[in-house]
Amino acid sequence: MPLTFHNTYARLPDQFFSHQPAADIPAPVMLKLNQALADRLGIGAATLDNANGAAFLSGAAFPEGAEPVAMAYAGHQFGNFVPQLGDGRALLLGEVLAPDGTRFDIHLKGSGRTQFSRGGDGKAVLGPVLREYLIGEAMAALGIPTTRALAAVLTGETVWREEPEPGAVLARVAASHIRVGTFQFFYVRQDFEALRRLLDYAIERHYPQAASADVPALAFLGAVMARQAALVARWMGVGFIHGVMNTDNMAISGETIDYGPCAFMDIYDPGTVYSSIDQMGRYAYANQPRIAHWNLAQLAQSLLPLVPGEPEAAANALQGVVDGFPALYDGEWLAVFGRKIGLAAPAPEDQAMIEDLLALMADAKADFTLAFRHLTRALATDNWQDIEATLAAAPDFADWRHRWLARLGADRALAVKAMVGANPAFIPRNHRVEAALQAARNGDLSVFEHLLAILSRPYAEQPENAAFEAPPGPGEAVQATFCGT
Ligand code: AMP
Ligand code: MG
Repeated sequence: MPLTFHNTYARLPDQFFSHQPAADIPAPVMLKLNQALADRLGIGAATLDNANGAAFLSGAAFPEGAEPVAMAYAGHQFGNFVPQLGDGRALLLGEVLAPDGTRFDIHLKGSGRTQFSRGGDGKAVLGPVLREYLIGEAMAALGIPTTRALAAVLTGETVWREEPEPGAVLARVAASHIRVGTFQFFYVRQDFEALRRLLDYAIERHYPQAASADVPALAFLGAVMARQAALVARWMGVGFIHGVMNTDNMAISGETIDYGPCAFMDIYDPGTVYSSIDQMGRYAYANQPRIAHWNLAQLAQSLLPLVPGEPEAAANALQGVVDGFPALYDGEWLAVFGRKIGLAAPAPEDQAMIEDLLALMADAKADFTLAFRHLTRALATDNWQDIEATLAAAPDFADWRHRWLARLGADRALAVKAMVGANPAFIPRNHRVEAALQAARNGDLSVFEHLLAILSRPYAEQPENAAFEAPPGPGEAVQATFCGT
């Protein structure tokens, strides 16, 4: 199957991007190709798993019909507005249509300098590339909307970071790469014609129903908010901490994007931060819904010129939509955490019971993932040993259990089923991820492959891999994660 590109983004006006020539990459070698994803895209692994594929997916050579561009965007980074960011080390290779008609971007991260590189070298290195591959694929297997990894390609270069590292490129697939920051880019330039084009394009591609609304910009904002509320609630449900929720890292499509210093929490603590660059804890676990709300308010502001009427009335209308975020999020949170305790249709009164359990977990310094999985197994088998041990430091668990079982009633099988599908046994634990990356740096990809295979079935019982459920042992815990850019 040939690679057929549809370059709709490249048809937008010039301000949206800069055209990009092929990169000077000395020796591209395919390190890891995601065969299943290539098949899903209708590309066929055979098209890519060769020297041509390595050249295409690193940016060393462009396939016929591709019209690669570096996309322009702005963004708030840790609350500070930067009017021009853009693809400084990335490239939109083009769009492909999957056999089911869905349009996807193929995007290369680490393919070299662009017009947006500022001081950077435009490159990426092996560790962060494999990290994004692993965590993105784990998220996909967890059922959480995300960009996907199509390939990791070695460039044959040595790239200097803290120390010399093998250069690499990640080819990733996304519903699109339009970000909150893309809207901000045109808003801050007061290029309202381009802003209008961007809105029309984003609506057509992601929220076609908004086109026929009274005020498409308001309907679009509401639709983006609904997806972000659902997304962040799903993150919270698996203990995921994005780490860099800047407005340029929030996709309009509602997919998780830009895996940098992200991490999954081990011990449950709402204040958990891993990212070494997040000194103030702005993007701590429990802050994520608030930050999503704040980011969406920035999107709303950028949409102001596209809402008809007096500016004040338009601003009020946008504010009215944005103000709906907490309620949207609370509903999604309740649905996610309700399932985690076996309630397929939780009621608002159930919120207190969920919060009480989380408080017990915090008191006991319980491992977030393991506690819910043990609770699931306890309900399934009526053996309460493991969960009691996990929450031993929280003696009120016996009371909680009593309330919970009363709430579940007789039909425990249904509750167990909900819980098995909502409480993963296997998440990309930081110490396992680090071990996989370290082995890969030493030329051994087998640890990565093994971990990837385990994470592709996160909800399944895998007794042979039980060790991968375990939290880090003493001295194994990863304290901080790095962007590696
Ligand atoms: P990120 O924090 O990865 O979301 O990136 C923020 C901004 O920095 C984006 O505009 C990136 O393109 C840019 N950037 C990150 N790393 C590099 C690099 N090595 N070279 C050039 N630009 C970069
Ligand atoms: Mg980014």
